[in-house]
Amino acid sequence: MKENDIITIQSLLAEPKRIAIIPHRSPDGDAMGSTLALYHFLLKLNHKPVVIAPNEFPDFLAWLPGAETVKIFEKDKENGTKLLQDAELVFTLDFNAFHRTGDQMETVLKTLTVPFVMIDHHQKPDDYAVVAFSNTDYGSTCEMVYHFIAALQLTNLIDKTIATCIYTGIVTDSGSFRYPATTGETHRIVASLIDLGVENSEIHSLLFDNHSHNRIQILARALQNLRVLPQYSTSYTTLSQEELDTFGYVKGDTEGIVNYGLTIKGIVFTAIFIENKDEKIIKISFRSKGDFDVNQFARKHFSGGGHINAAGGKSSLNMEDTVQHFLDIVSQEH
Ligand code: 5GP
Ligand code: MN
Repeated sequence: MKENDIITIQSLLAEPKRIAIIPHRSPDGDAMGSTLALYHFLLKLNHKPVVIAPNEFPDFLAWLPGAETVKIFEKDKENGTKLLQDAELVFTLDFNAFHRTGDQMETVLKTLTVPFVMIDHHQKPDDYAVVAFSNTDYGSTCEMVYHFIAALQLTNLIDKTIATCIYTGIVTDSGSFRYPATTGETHRIVASLIDLGVENSEIHSLLFDNHSHNRIQILARALQNLRVLPQYSTSYTTLSQEELDTFGYVKGDTEGIVNYGLTIKGIVFTAIFIENKDEKIIKISFRSKGDFDVNQFARKHFSGGGHINAAGGKSSLNMEDTVQHFLDIVSQEH
């Protein structure tokens, strides 16, 4: 963090404040871990923080310390709006633009006049924050929260609770320490978190060995639907709303399934297309290995974004047309 930014943060946090902390819509392990880590940290500094998630977080994150205090904006808009309007300071974590919170929360965020602080590792941050700690070199926002606390010279306040939240986001966003953004520094931070009592093995089980039978059936269907285009080093799969309904889909069930498409030898680009009848869209996740930039791909073709090797987007065409559009692009770009 820049010296000026540290001074600004220190003055913003000098007196106890009502502070709203916001993750992106459909928060993942990094979004929930980072917001809750910051929540517990700000509590220790005698502030009144509250995490307000735009919509529900998946069940497999419900064990995170403090998850029970998280307010769900779209479930109780009146209270969520009031909390946002009452806040004296707003932290936005793990996203780079208001629209990533969804239409409903975005509308309210745009009206707020209090200072914003951004901590995020996505490309092209919007310019709404008095302090934007934004850097795509970091593998997770959780790792950045650790550096944020370190920049304030307050790592002595990191206890097992905060460490657990930070660890969770580092693990989930690094694919369990596999992705290229994982550095020696990442491992040094993780080592210090484990020394603070983080139950690393237990957390892995809570995150990854915690599936319902339904979720495994959804995974099985996605694997059956997987198509491989060896000439383009590409694979893709689909899940229709009907398939999701058949297996009693609940939020979080499709998390991580996209990664299987990259486990095939020689495949460097994969996508999963997931139908969402309620929102009348096909939600798409992209993953790549090496230089192929799925952030650019998602931005250019599917109104999305993300990181170089992990991004998402959406389409308002039906499933068949969306997939055809994707295939057309893939064949043209090769
Ligand atoms: P996932 O595929 O796991 O949903 O998302 C992968 C990455 O892409 C995450 O960093 C996520 O924030 C980003 N992402 C996913 N969907 C979208 C989208 O519709 N728009 C943008 N800008 N980023 C997205
Ligand atoms: Mn993240």
